[in-house]
Amino acid sequence: MKNDKTTNNDNGNSHKQEAKRKIALLTGTTGQDGAYLAEFLLNKGYEVHGLKRRASSFNTDRIDHLYQDPHESDVRFRLHYGDLTDSTNLIRVIQEVQPDEIYNLGAQSHVQVSFETPEYTANSDAIGTLRILEALRILGMEKKARFYQASTSELYGLVQETPQKETTPFYPRSPYAAAKLYAYWITVNYRESYGMHASNGILFNHESPLRGETFVTRKITRAVARTVLGLQDRLYLGNMNAKRDWGFAGDYVEAMWLMVQQGQPEDFVIATGETHTVREFVEAAFGRAGVRIEWSGSGIEETGRVAAIEPGSPAAKAGVLKTGQTIVAVDPRYFRPAEVELLLGDPSKAKERLGWEPRVKFHGLVEMMVDADLMAQQREMYLKSGGYEVKNYFE
Ligand code: NDP
Repeated sequence: MKNDKTTNNDNGNSHKQEAKRKIALLTGTTGQDGAYLAEFLLNKGYEVHGLKRRASSFNTDRIDHLYQDPHESDVRFRLHYGDLTDSTNLIRVIQEVQPDEIYNLGAQSHVQVSFETPEYTANSDAIGTLRILEALRILGMEKKARFYQASTSELYGLVQETPQKETTPFYPRSPYAAAKLYAYWITVNYRESYGMHASNGILFNHESPLRGETFVTRKITRAVARTVLGLQDRLYLGNMNAKRDWGFAGDYVEAMWLMVQQGQPEDFVIATGETHTVREFVEAAFGRAGVRIEWSGSGIEETGRVAAIEPGSPAAKAGVLKTGQTIVAVDPRYFRPAEVELLLGDPSKAKERLGWEPRVKFHGLVEMMVDADLMAQQREMYLKSGGYEVKNYFE
């Protein structure tokens, strides 16, 4: 465990700090943001409790480095089985943990998947948020625990104004966004009705090497690494003209925490203020590995070919790709039934009120993700080429 209880000791007196130690409860702890936020809060001296879903295989990869043996004396990170679709479980965990702060990050968070599982998405993302807020009221904790809701730029959907800010009207374009719209308003409603310290962070897309492999940015950076190393022939994508404001998850979890520390609860847009197309992300990602792409065709016929390979780059060293080879193509199966064409956030309120600004911008983010995926894919290759294989001792 790399976090130690004296790390953030304001006055050097660990007994005093012990008395003041804050308790945070996170839903979605096993996800991208949950992992970054848990580590961030542990580094701030918090006791962190996370909700984890029961799964038939391990689902704690992203937080395994934070794990503490429950037999240790000063355990500050604990996981509890739970689910946003189970009210009784949420009431019991909140009662047991008695959190000062709750960060509701848990959600069926994939837009495309929400078209396939709209009812479940509404249950976990919309009603799940209500369940937590009601649990706080049932337990008489509505004035004790502060609440953060993971709202999303997808609320803007068919955008009514660019750039989007806190006052821009919403127009959700997916079951995911419609569910998150309910969660947004029920959070506002509980704040206004019961005086709860409840805030919405309207976060624009944020990514990292921990991003799930089916989200477009990670799908791209993973495919870049695999294509360059000869493990994959082609990357298939949907709408390459979609424009997004992409930031780094590590920066965005700090904004969540800052919102919860404010004297008054409020809603904030968190974004970089830059927008790029998916195509630009692909170009930058392949560029990082040393591959220049040239595009031809349009619409579903569009393809990306290798135009040049930079000498000394990872692609040149791997020696697999050839100029002229097609490595990117469109697959209409990845088109959304209703598209969100352009997202661009205006984070001025967060800058002014929270003193928050993104440290990592577009190119830094792409580089971080490609480098991590190149390392991960190479590690796998080396293990295989080094003769590592699991022996069957029963044969
Ligand atoms: P992830 O998909 O990486 O993580 C989602 C988390 O929610 C996982 O821990 C998942 O558990 C958990 N979860 C899913 N369903 C349930 C359920 N029914 N009960 C309890 N937990 C559940 O998402 P991110 O970390 O990227 O995002 C965090 C939050 O922020 C989400 O609410 C997302 O919608 C929102 N958001 C994200 C943005 C982004 O760009 N990343 C942008 C704006 C908002 P398991 O690991 O078991 O699947």
